[in-house]
Amino acid sequence: MDRLLVVGAGPKAMAVAAKAHVLRQLGLPAPEVVIIESHAVGGNWLPSGGWTDGQHRLGTSPEKDVGFPYHSSWARGHNRAINEAMMGFSWTSFLVERGGYAEWVDRGRPSPHHHVWAKYLQWVARKSGVEVVHATVRTVSAAAQGWEVLAVEADGTERRLQSDALMITGPGNSARALAEHPKMLSIAEFWDLIGRRELPSTSRAAVIGGGETAGSAMDELVRHDVLTVSVISPAATIYTRGESYFENSLYSDPGKWRALSIDERRDVVRRTDRGVFSVRVQENLLGDSRVHHLQGRVVRVGGDGDGIELTLRNDRRPDATHTFDLVVDATGGQPLWFLEMFDSDASDLVELAIGGPIDKPRLEAAIGHDLAVTGMEAKLFLPNMAGMAQGPGFPNLSCLGELSDRVLAESSVRSGMARRAASGLHRALG
Ligand SMILES: Cc1cc2nc3c(=O)[nH]c(=O)nc-3n(C[C@H](O)[C@H](O)[C@H](O)COP(=O)(O)OP(=O)(O)OC[C@H]3O[C@@H](n4cnc5c(N)ncnc54)[C@H](O)[C@@H]3O)c2cc1C
Repeated sequence: MDRLLVVGAGPKAMAVAAKAHVLRQLGLPAPEVVIIESHAVGGNWLPSGGWTDGQHRLGTSPEKDVGFPYHSSWARGHNRAINEAMMGFSWTSFLVERGGYAEWVDRGRPSPHHHVWAKYLQWVARKSGVEVVHATVRTVSAAAQGWEVLAVEADGTERRLQSDALMITGPGNSARALAEHPKMLSIAEFWDLIGRRELPSTSRAAVIGGGETAGSAMDELVRHDVLTVSVISPAATIYTRGESYFENSLYSDPGKWRALSIDERRDVVRRTDRGVFSVRVQENLLGDSRVHHLQGRVVRVGGDGDGIELTLRNDRRPDATHTFDLVVDATGGQPLWFLEMFDSDASDLVELAIGGPIDKPRLEAAIGHDLAVTGMEAKLFLPNMAGMAQGPGFPNLSCLGELSDRVLAESSVRSGMARRAASGLHRALG
C-alpha cells in the first residue's frame, strides 16, 4: 500500500495519520495518507457538522485518544518506540502544549465539550503534517491500480484522486429525517435550530433513537421549556452504558473478541452499545420527571397541522399511536451510507468479495483483521463495519491506536519484507 485515501477527517483519520507519521519518523514503511474532508478537521464535532452543537461533552474519556491503548505489538523491535512516539499525539500532550493540563487534572479530568475535541483533532492534523484535501467526495470508482475518487471543492472545482487503498469513516448524512413532516426534525435541523436559539417552544417532545445521537438530543431538550420529553426505542428500556473494567476491556482490547460466539458478541453490543446512554447523560435525565421512555419501532408518521402522530409497533401488542408537538429523528447514521458514492463497478467488486448483494450482515461478516473487506485486491478499509467481526471498539473512539495498527501494520510489514528481500537480492547480485 503506497497511498491511502481516507474519506473524512475525524478521529479515525487522525489516528491513522499520526501512526503513519510516527512509523516514517522511525524509518519504518508507511503509506502516504491523504484525507478528503468536506467540512473541517473534526467537522462532525463542530456545530456546523450537523451532529452536535459542539457544547455537549464526549461520553468516553478523552484519554481514549488517537493513540489509545498505546499497545502496538506487530513491529518487532520497534513497538516500544512506536508507543512512546504516539504519546506525542495524546490528549494530555495536547493539553500540555496548550497550557491547560494542570487545570484539567485539578478539575477532575472532565470529558471535553465536542468542539474542544475537534480542536484536539485539528492539532493532531497539524502536528502529523497529513495532507487534507478540502472537498466533498462524490464518486468512488474502481481503477486499474486501486481506487479513483472524484471530489468537489466548495467553489465547484473537481479533483480526481487515485490511491491503492481507501478508508471510509463517519456516519454519513444527518440531514435526513424518517419522514417529511413540518413537526419532524432531522438531527441536523435540530442542532441548527439550537445553535440559532430558535427551537420552537413545545409541550410534548419526542426523540427517536437510543444511541449517542439521541442521548445528546435528550440532554439538550431537557434544558428547554418542555412539559414532557419521550425517548422512543425498540428495546424494553434505555440501558446505562456499563463502564466496568470487564465491559471496557472488550472495547480497548479487541484481542478477546474473536474467541466469543456471534451470540455472545451480539449480547455484549446490545448491553453496552445499542440503546445505551452514557452514565453522565443518564444521571442528567433520571432526576427529571418530564423524561419518559416509549418502547417500539415507529411504523407510521401522520397527523397534520397541530401535532405529529407516531405509530409504535411492538411484538405481541397492538400498535399504539402517540401525538407530539415536536419529534427529533435521532436514529443516527446509515451504516451503508457510503455506497451511494460507489459507482457500479466499485459496488460489483464489493459484491464479488462478499459473495452476494451488499447488505449490512454480509459486509460486517467480511471485515478482516486489517479492518478491510476480505478478498478485495484494492484495500477497502471499513472500520465502522468492523464491530461484529473484529471488536466493538473499532466503530467508535475506544481503541483508535489499535485501529491504526490494524490498518497500517500489514502493509508496513509487507513492504518492509519486500524492501529487505530487494536489498538482499541486490547484495546477492552485487
Ligand atoms: C453526538 C455524538 C456523540 C458521540 N460521542 C461519542 C463518544 O463520546 N465516544 C465514542 O466513542 N463515540 C462517540 N460517538 C460516536 C462517534 O461518531 C464515533 O465514535 C466517531 O466520531 C467516528 O469517528 P470517525 O472518524 O469515523 O468520523 P467522524 O468524526 O464522524 O468524521 C467523519 C468526517 O467525514 C466528513 N465527511 C462526510 N461525508 C464526506 C464526503 N462525502 N466527503 C468528504 N468528507 C466527508 C465529515 O465532514 C466528518 O468530518 C458520538 C457520536 C455522536 C453523533
